[in-house]
Amino acid sequence: MKAAVVTNNKSVEIVERQLRALKHGEALVEVEYCGVCHTDLHVKNADFGDVTGIILGHEGIGIVTELGDGVESLKVGDRVSIAWFFEGCGHCEYCNSGRETLCREVKNAGYTVDGAMAEQCIVSADFAVKVPDGLDPAAASSISCAGVTTYKAVKESKIQPGQWIGVFGIGGLGNLAVQYAKNVFNAKVVAFDISDDKLEFAKRLGADEVINSKNVNPVERVKELTDGAGLHATVITAVAKTPFNQAVDVVRAGGRVVAVGLPVDKMDLDIPRLVLDGIQVVGSLVGTREDLKEAFQFAAEGKVTPVLQKRRVEEINTIFEEMEAGKIEGRMVIDFTK
Ligand SMILES: [Zn+2]
Ligand SMILES: [Zn+2]
Repeated sequence: MKAAVVTNNKSVEIVERQLRALKHGEALVEVEYCGVCHTDLHVKNADFGDVTGIILGHEGIGIVTELGDGVESLKVGDRVSIAWFFEGCGHCEYCNSGRETLCREVKNAGYTVDGAMAEQCIVSADFAVKVPDGLDPAAASSISCAGVTTYKAVKESKIQPGQWIGVFGIGGLGNLAVQYAKNVFNAKVVAFDISDDKLEFAKRLGADEVINSKNVNPVERVKELTDGAGLHATVITAVAKTPFNQAVDVVRAGGRVVAVGLPVDKMDLDIPRLVLDGIQVVGSLVGTREDLKEAFQFAAEGKVTPVLQKRRVEEINTIFEEMEAGKIEGRMVIDFTK
């Protein structure tokens, strides 16, 4: 089978690979689609350590074609996800308390185990989440990472209907954060970016207000919008330090700031502001299997529609160049169906 493999010169090569036989509890998936994520860029650039030889991809969707011994949760023909949260240990404090993505022995697809940017992929059956009927598989690939990550982040923000939430960075993640915040959580959404094109995009997706923080002081503009109070919460999907700091500056007292973007950097936190205004800053990492089920369901109901473009696996290095140049609108999805 054809697979996109990380090489030792921070690039990706399309190679022929033979998969091993299935073990107990595993299933073989014929991959239909696999989205390309900013995390893949970090992985192939060795930002999280050298993983030469690993098959990339953690936004995979495909059909189960074969079951190993002992599999009860899946059957042949099921459509399932291959996500960043590939497998948890199942017995630690995190796995047993609804926080399985924090498992210290977690396996991550396309990073610590071979991922879904290949014609086939082996999954741990109990950790592959079924895709509901009525959800397009290419759209589902975007939900399996970008969708669930932003759904979970908005959930973590504890936003209530009618409250103000800010989304920083309207890329592959941010566009979905806007949709979940607006259409599922019924919040008033302010989109922040430094590109007018991306802000136009956010408007089309239903953002109530857009702020180009390159041209306008975001703190002043938010004050005007909210009678001087500030936003109730913010979600940062941007991959630069400045928006992380701005996301703290624009929330009101008691506000919650949820970080999901992953620039390799530090943010400034003004301690008096943090303490005196009771600001909460939390990190949010992808989502659990239950979160993914919910995120899939809302997409199947048409509340959230990923914006994507189908590409061939041979274009992977070009896609990364486009990503680094900030040229991508929505998600690039590798199409393995042809
Ligand atoms: Zn991802
Ligand atoms: Zn665990």
